[in-house]
Amino acid sequence: MIAFLFFIIGTHFFSWGSEAASNQMRCGKCGTEGRFIKKQGMRFITLFFIIPLLPISGIKNLLQCAVCGAKYQTN
Ligand SMILES: [Zn+2]
Repeated sequence: MIAFLFFIIGTHFFSWGSEAASNQMRCGKCGTEGRFIKKQGMRFITLFFIIPLLPISGIKNLLQCAVCGAKYQTN
């Protein structure tokens, strides 16, 4: 029974938002210099890996590279 619960309950980081950042940055992963996308995200305990049940972190502010999708936490 416990093994079954571990199988269906996990954690997942959900992020949202698509505002363009005001300043330009260089991406450490792909080297592109340009505007990043401002996003916010939170880690949740999930059911079946996609259904958020409980938030387990505060809201994080992120900047995402528009080219390769790398995310950088800003706080
Ligand atoms: Zn990049």
